[in-house]
Amino acid sequence: MDNTSSTTGSFRDRSLEAALDALGEAGFPQAEILALDPHVGPPGEQELGRLRGILEAHSVRGRTMHATGARNTLAALDASWRKQSVEALTGYVRLAGALGMTELVIHPISDRDLAPYADDPELPQKMREAVKRSLDDLMPAIEASGVRITLENLPYLGLPLNTMRELRTVIDPYPCEAVGLVIDLGHVARLDLDPVDEIRAAGERLYGTHIHDINVNAGGADHHSPTLGYHDWDAIRQAFAGIGYTGPWTSEAMQLSHGESPEELAREVKDWMTFWLR
Ligand SMILES: [Zn+2]
Repeated sequence: MDNTSSTTGSFRDRSLEAALDALGEAGFPQAEILALDPHVGPPGEQELGRLRGILEAHSVRGRTMHATGARNTLAALDASWRKQSVEALTGYVRLAGALGMTELVIHPISDRDLAPYADDPELPQKMREAVKRSLDDLMPAIEASGVRITLENLPYLGLPLNTMRELRTVIDPYPCEAVGLVIDLGHVARLDLDPVDEIRAAGERLYGTHIHDINVNAGGADHHSPTLGYHDWDAIRQAFAGIGYTGPWTSEAMQLSHGESPEELAREVKDWMTFWLR
């Protein structure tokens, strides 16, 4: 079975319908729907009906959804911020569950909103407690909707909870059907971490991937094609095999590197994945 997928974020220049068409033409059988303009509006009954109609009319399966990040974060430090985040994230949990997605990707931390607290020596502990409270608050909606949320490692240097090891300690007490991890390999590269170690640390709680590479010719920017080969992709593939990973292989390559079109990038990544996963 072809278990490759791609973010719709590589086609934010067009509607969700057109983005799914483009991913299908590139050969992707599944997509991660990016819950941002112009692909997804605010969650609710009307948006659910619209998305359901689009997905039913397309051969590309909506496999996963990526909730909006920024201020909607699990590590919301005070009660009103957390209430607002949990309310917003609950909307995406319900939406993704009603659409039959297997996972909803959530950002556990936010750089802009947490940076003002970076000098607080108690910040790591406060963030861990905030994530736990948010997860506790989200659990009823997660269990009712049948979707698993996956926490993503983010590339924010100097903030806690950006490694798989730290994220595992936070999610381990929760049931694996409800809470897991998604590894973003471009973010691993930006933090100069060892991807093999990170994959092993995520272990059996890993349910998703964000596959992209950094471009050393573009200042180390991420979300470039894995064909750039900064990572040792063979070692990474072996590490995934070592933990028995069975989740989707999701491209998050969105940045153009060598004058290609977005369509050409999608095709290039799809062809590379076929070779990499052979
Ligand atoms: Zn990502």
